[in-house]
Amino acid sequence: MTTVETLMVPETVAEARTGFRTWLAENRAPLEQFRETGGELTEIFDRLRRLQRMLYDAGWIRLGWPESAGGLGGRRILRSIISEELAHAGYPPPFSFATQEVLGPAVAEFAPAELAAVALPRLLQGEETWCQGFSEPGAGSDLASLRLQAVRVDGGWQVSGEKVWTSWAQLADRCLLLARTGPSDSGHRGISAFLLDMNTPGITVSRLRSMNGDDEFCSLFFDNVVIPEGRLLGEVDGGWAVATHVLAGERGAAAWQRQIWLRSRLDELAADPAADVGDDAIGESLELLTALRLLSRRTVARLSADEPVGSTTSLDKLAMSTAEKFLFDVALAGKSADTVFGHPDENWRNDYLYSRASSIYGGAAEIQRNIIAERLLGLPR
Ligand SMILES: Cc1cc2nc3c(=O)[nH]c(=O)nc-3n(C[C@H](O)[C@H](O)[C@H](O)COP(=O)(O)OP(=O)(O)OC[C@H]3O[C@@H](n4cnc5c(N)ncnc54)[C@H](O)[C@@H]3O)c2cc1C
Repeated sequence: MTTVETLMVPETVAEARTGFRTWLAENRAPLEQFRETGGELTEIFDRLRRLQRMLYDAGWIRLGWPESAGGLGGRRILRSIISEELAHAGYPPPFSFATQEVLGPAVAEFAPAELAAVALPRLLQGEETWCQGFSEPGAGSDLASLRLQAVRVDGGWQVSGEKVWTSWAQLADRCLLLARTGPSDSGHRGISAFLLDMNTPGITVSRLRSMNGDDEFCSLFFDNVVIPEGRLLGEVDGGWAVATHVLAGERGAAAWQRQIWLRSRLDELAADPAADVGDDAIGESLELLTALRLLSRRTVARLSADEPVGSTTSLDKLAMSTAEKFLFDVALAGKSADTVFGHPDENWRNDYLYSRASSIYGGAAEIQRNIIAERLLGLPR
């Protein structure tokens, strides 16, 4: 049986697929518990952490990460292959897979080496959960106008202000935080990024219930919170580079994860005898998902080759939200509102409601269209 001691870093994608499939088959019995998707939030997080730990101990989710981050090395594309094969085998990917792809690469790139060496392996092991502290009550689409302030003090930075819509902050151990370190009118040139411990005194986390009934969102209130020096990511006032790195992950690599899961939901819908969904609707949904997959595959390949992805991830994000909303619209029409909303298996209801958010998080669809128009097509503002 493959263990982390015997796992050789695969040289090709095909080798990675075969090796991981074999491991999944060999471990079918202990993995069975991870097919479950329901339960209380803490139960779900706990279950997914255990799955992640198992994958870490066997080495699979260490592939494609540098050794300095607790990885085993190899090309970055291996990470995408492992999450794809996991979903194909019927196991829901841990939430933390998305965090890893959104926040992990920026921390690997910009954090001081000592901090990355401690924090990243803990993220990969499932020992830690991280959240993303970007949005504020007055700064969402216009992120460069954020106001949460960080002032230099002896040995670090003192932070005061508010963040909002911070997903899963109530369960997070660390937060990748954007703060204003320049003058109030300094726009994107006066922002710095920090990796903050969520148990630092002065942080109040207040939950906000979303329309699907989950307590995903939080407001964060910072009252003279002191962040030590070694937690700065990149340069002082250089946080915009960190933010764009994170957003490229959120719009690009994370879209790859999402399309895998969306495809599995489409397959379930198409196979459901109780759903009255026409072939046309299934076909159109498949087309949108295939377009997303192809766009996303290009992004993943570029990231893996360390090539810049620039603004092209806005195409992925827009394709993702279009495909996701369409799929769950089809499900609602085909299964009837009554079935989706009154179904004993609440997944369809949740997924329909959550699909409405897909054109908001990671930058709203209108913003992606502006980026595509101005930066990719060269149209006037
Ligand atoms: C499920 C979910 C999870 C999230 N998780 C996080 C998280 O973990 N961390 C975090 O920091 N944030 C998170 N967010 C917040 C998200 O990043 C913001 O909601 C998003 O950036 C939009 O900002 P806003 O809500 O302030 O809307 P606004 O910026 O106020 O926009 C409102 C509307 O105006 C439109 N609009 C705004 N400006 C323009 C323009 N220039 N041109 C055309 N149209 C425009 C927008 O497209 C939108 O339709 C999350 C959001 C959701 C839905």
